[in-house]
Amino acid sequence: MKPQNNKPVRVRFAPSPTGHLHIGSLRTALFNWLFARHHHGIFLIRIEDTDVVRSTKEYEHSLLESLAWTGIVSDEPLMYQASRMELYRQYAQQLIAQGKAYKCYCKQTELQEKREETQQRQDTYQYDKACRALGDDSSNPNPYVVRFKVVIDSENFIFHDEIKGEVSIPAQQIDDFVLLRSDGTVTYNFANVIDDHETAITHVIRGEEHLFNTPKQILLYQAFGFQAPSYGHIPLILGPSGQKLSKRDGATSVVEYKNEGYLPQALCNYLVRLGWSYGDQEIFTQQEMIQHFSLQGINRSGAKFDIEKLKWVNSFYIKALTPQEIIEIFSKDLKRNLAQDTSAWTQDQRQTCISLYQDRVSTLTELYDQVVKSYNPPASYDWENLRQLIEKDAVIILQLLQQEFVNLEFEKHQLSEKVKAFCKLHNYKMSEIAQLLRFALTGSISGPSIFDMMVLLGCKEVQKRMSGVIAEF
Ligand code: GLU
Repeated sequence: MKPQNNKPVRVRFAPSPTGHLHIGSLRTALFNWLFARHHHGIFLIRIEDTDVVRSTKEYEHSLLESLAWTGIVSDEPLMYQASRMELYRQYAQQLIAQGKAYKCYCKQTELQEKREETQQRQDTYQYDKACRALGDDSSNPNPYVVRFKVVIDSENFIFHDEIKGEVSIPAQQIDDFVLLRSDGTVTYNFANVIDDHETAITHVIRGEEHLFNTPKQILLYQAFGFQAPSYGHIPLILGPSGQKLSKRDGATSVVEYKNEGYLPQALCNYLVRLGWSYGDQEIFTQQEMIQHFSLQGINRSGAKFDIEKLKWVNSFYIKALTPQEIIEIFSKDLKRNLAQDTSAWTQDQRQTCISLYQDRVSTLTELYDQVVKSYNPPASYDWENLRQLIEKDAVIILQLLQQEFVNLEFEKHQLSEKVKAFCKLHNYKMSEIAQLLRFALTGSISGPSIFDMMVLLGCKEVQKRMSGVIAEF
């Protein structure tokens, strides 16, 4: 999509603060942000808080915090719709004065009855335009809503969508919709158009659930004589069943992913690729995303959310961090205190332990738990696993090894030479003894190199853990 009429690109992300940031919304925000950066344009955040009952400050902070966590911030001051009510009323007044909108005095209860009747006939409900002919009678004291006078000359309303191509919506599905409610508050479609116009938005990139709102919005632009922005509707994110991704399919909010130990760069990389592609490249630096992003690269159909792939992307980014960076993220994002949970260790030991496990995990919570687990002597042993290994001689082997380790410098090469010699002498395979040691020291039969672990724990702790498992046998 080229910049509209060569105007500088201006896009916006317009969340309603009625819940935490959904991962689908983060993807929408990201696509907008990338589009703006790609075209050296402006990205705005507008808070659509006109639903006073469901909007809360808590959700607003949560949304903004989640966005900031991924590096998405507004290039201009935030806009709040709730503080612009007077302006919307003025615009509505203008349409009434021009005969393009009218006051509707129909009672909610009557409309509801008519709606139910049509539903029973299995017809599409449309407001019957009863108040269209009344004119602007300012002496009428009854409560009213302001409706837009929808005039469409053809059977279908057709518009161009930058992602979906030509979209055709039956005209009969677009009735005289409400602009202002009887309490004077504004509806989504009306406020959206006024604000997009006032902030000179050139491209509206949003979820496909808004596809049916677009004709109404374009009609409003036409009524005001404003130029409508270009539209691009992003297909839904689907759950494993092929239905819209829902809470039933697992975590759907960005905060949950943050708390579970996903990195923002991994979540963004995964979400950008979900429904958008650039050849078969999977991992993108932020610069590459900006460089290659285009609306043409977005698929026309929904994309299935795949947690295993997200984990794979996350593990890629975890591997790329330094242990010190990981320690900082533990405290900043996971609010965990590693120094406290591994208090007898030096910072060097913590970093070493992280480096031993960071290639083996897919989330940072998993890594944290693994580090703390290594710090503490095994809470229990899975004897079944051991028995498959070298059950009968285990105690003797461990006792002999304990003696070998006395007065030995705990250095990786020395340890491995010692164990090698031991295996040769007693006719064991190195892999068997390594597994037995791993079992004794960590309680598990899989993990990083046992000699690295032994260096990390130090002679005293190794001897202690070996005695511990011998005693339990
Ligand atoms: N507040 C709307 C939403 O939450 C904004 C839709 C739009 O971008 O126009 O989805």
